[in-house]
Amino acid sequence: MNNIACRLRGVSKTYGTGETAVHAVKQVDLDIYQGELFMIMGPSGSGKTTLLSLLGGTLYCDSGTIDVFGTPIHTLSPEQLTEFRRTYVGFIFQQFHLVPTLTAWENVALPLLIQGKKRQDAYAVAQQKLELVNLAHMGERFPRNLSGGEQQRLAIARALIHEPRLVISDEPTSNLDLETGTKIMNVLKTIAKDTSRTVVIVTHDPRIVQYGDRMVQMSDGRILPSLASDGLEKK
Ligand code: ADP
Ligand code: MG
Repeated sequence: MNNIACRLRGVSKTYGTGETAVHAVKQVDLDIYQGELFMIMGPSGSGKTTLLSLLGGTLYCDSGTIDVFGTPIHTLSPEQLTEFRRTYVGFIFQQFHLVPTLTAWENVALPLLIQGKKRQDAYAVAQQKLELVNLAHMGERFPRNLSGGEQQRLAIARALIHEPRLVISDEPTSNLDLETGTKIMNVLKTIAKDTSRTVVIVTHDPRIVQYGDRMVQMSDGRILPSLASDGLEKK
């Protein structure tokens, strides 16, 4: 029980009502363990982004229970949920959402700078995160002077600034070529392994499945029963 990061039971989410209702996530049961790189695969429209939003606390489920590090997040008020995200969750977006007028290290350190931390101290923390993603030598560059893969690694470093225990990422490699995507997956794997963080990745890119410790397939809002022989589905 202790090593469960996320436990979902009977989780459903429907957008809209009546004739136009879309049942995006249907009765999902799922356990994700601490320290693993967990992949959610599935075609476009199968409910992956919705499921990730439920896990990361940016969306409420309609029914079911979602426990993250022992907190039943489906019971939290919007304010408590915001606090939960700030404390526990790091988001890596497909569109990197970097601030073009800030240097790489400033982008990473932005939350600390906003909090009023001294520049020197914020720099030290940011530099440590940049080292994790192999960008330590590029701290003074602006995003426009970084390649797509470097920008994605910068976005990963930024997601780690508050030491989140849960890192979630929606299609992290979909804008990248295979070689760059491979580098990104190696970085994410390191992050999951070395720090006992839990990393959950949603993707429809079959090329990166091999990097996951475990994987589930989604189809039409449901998690498909896992295949017993693929070696990925049991820890
Ligand atoms: P995926 O990430 O696998 O492509 P999504 O979770 O984005 O799947 O979407 C699942 C289903 O829910 C799709 O049919 C999509 O059109 C629908 N959907 C997603 N977001 C919304 C929304 N905000 N309002 C209405 N329907 C939505
Ligand atoms: Mg999606």
